[in-house]
Amino acid sequence: MKTTADWHSLSQTITLRHQAYINGTFRPALSGETFESVNPSTEQTLAEVASCDTGDVELAVTRAREAFRSGVWSRKAPGERKQVLLRLAELMEQHGDELALLDSLDMGKSISEMLSVDLPDSIDCFRWTAESIDKMYGEIAPTGGETLGLISREPVGVVAAITPWNYPLMMASWKLAPALAAGNSVILKPSEKSPLSVLRLAELATEAGLPDGVLNVLPGFGHTAGKALALHNDVDVLAFTGSSRVGGLLMEYAGQSNLKQVWLEAGGKSPMVVFEDCADIEKAATTAAAAIFSNQGEVCIACSRLYLQHSIKDQFLQALLAAAKQYRGGDPLNPDTRMGALVDKAQLDTVARYIKSAMDDGATVVTGGMPEYLEGQGFYVEPTIITGARNDMAFVQEEIFGPVLAVCNFDTEDEAVHLANDNRYGLGASVWTDNLSRAHRVSRQIQSGMVWVNGWGGGDSTMPFGGVKASGNGRDKSLHSLEKYTELKTVWISL
Ligand code: NAD
Repeated sequence: MKTTADWHSLSQTITLRHQAYINGTFRPALSGETFESVNPSTEQTLAEVASCDTGDVELAVTRAREAFRSGVWSRKAPGERKQVLLRLAELMEQHGDELALLDSLDMGKSISEMLSVDLPDSIDCFRWTAESIDKMYGEIAPTGGETLGLISREPVGVVAAITPWNYPLMMASWKLAPALAAGNSVILKPSEKSPLSVLRLAELATEAGLPDGVLNVLPGFGHTAGKALALHNDVDVLAFTGSSRVGGLLMEYAGQSNLKQVWLEAGGKSPMVVFEDCADIEKAATTAAAAIFSNQGEVCIACSRLYLQHSIKDQFLQALLAAAKQYRGGDPLNPDTRMGALVDKAQLDTVARYIKSAMDDGATVVTGGMPEYLEGQGFYVEPTIITGARNDMAFVQEEIFGPVLAVCNFDTEDEAVHLANDNRYGLGASVWTDNLSRAHRVSRQIQSGMVWVNGWGGGDSTMPFGGVKASGNGRDKSLHSLEKYTELKTVWISL
């Protein structure tokens, strides 16, 4: 087990890939432009990264299409694709410390969270999906008579994946594993705030045997590289994880270009509802803290709205305050740190703005509060719990994407369901009750893609991950993720 000093010394020697990865080679952006990748815990520049634009997108799409047409990957037997992706999973494991360190340096999350969540989940996603791809069968339709009707799934072609900064390696893996397993060529545009780990991942994919041009990575900004990909007429599918605002733009771009399919995994403002018949208040409170303070609250499924039944609210709050103490911000490379730095100053300012708006609206900060920013010392904020919150307050309705928890109260089950659903998002929800009927009843009524009963968290590769309403339409993980990256083909054979 590495110490803080070990991680710091590794960070001094690690090689940072900082150019675009196109057709199996690193290269600068055609314009020669770069942008800075900054370590949010020290505010020091890590690398000058290639800033890709329309020209680079053109090149990458051309190479991706050529690779797809050649059949070098798209027509490989699924069992052979599986072997390459399993080798990639193996290489990710071998280079696990390096990949974990890259994300921790690049976006400020704790190294221990990288090693316990992001890295194993990313590797498992590649393994699980690779293992599934040679077990998928087509269908024969019950046409009868003189016809044979075949229904099969084919790769769609060129996939553009646009990903956010909060789980750089993991969000990319959730897209890449199924898109590649299905036989597509992919162009990945990571967030400009955390592009480093996926550039290394692409290099490892080549080492694993992925043919050139099948996976290309274009670091760059959303309004340049991202927009150019979304508007491109030779991109067949756009798989996006990020904010609902940008998701909406991508739908417009698809409409303005070739009607490419757009799959959105967007924002969230997930509720946690705790009923008075919750059997284990301590466990619920510890989970509530993890659900808002892990990854600094920069989690799409963060339960940022906590609804407590009146009769248990004081007991619950005490347990919650104790659990929150575990999450003081600290050096992300210290293995004991459970909460690192926010990704940048803009994110810190957003958090501060929402805390202020909560106070202006009359809610009460019971722990944490306005961040004290000291220039050059990182973007830190304390775990913040705000009581006296109501659904008509902006900080209860809008996604903050920071460690800020709104605590509200309710009396009846109907009221709890109404309050939980009274939001534009519908990603996750957590319900705590020891009453089986209530657990089913409430899970059914809650408008979200995922509900956890007496728990919270992403889960493993076997279950789909995604939302409804403004949280999007796509599903990552599980066999269902393959639906985004395959087309149904029907063949009528006249006998
Ligand atoms: P964002 O929408 O600002 O950016 C996401 C990606 O889109 C980045 O790569 C960015 O460069 C790109 N982009 C920005 N503008 C673009 C444009 N005009 N055209 C094309 N691409 C553009 O989101 P973010 O701040 O990186 O990430 C945080 C958001 O992601 C939160 O809302 C969070 O809830 C969401 N998220 C959702 C899930 C999920 O599974 N539903 C998972 C993680 C994060």
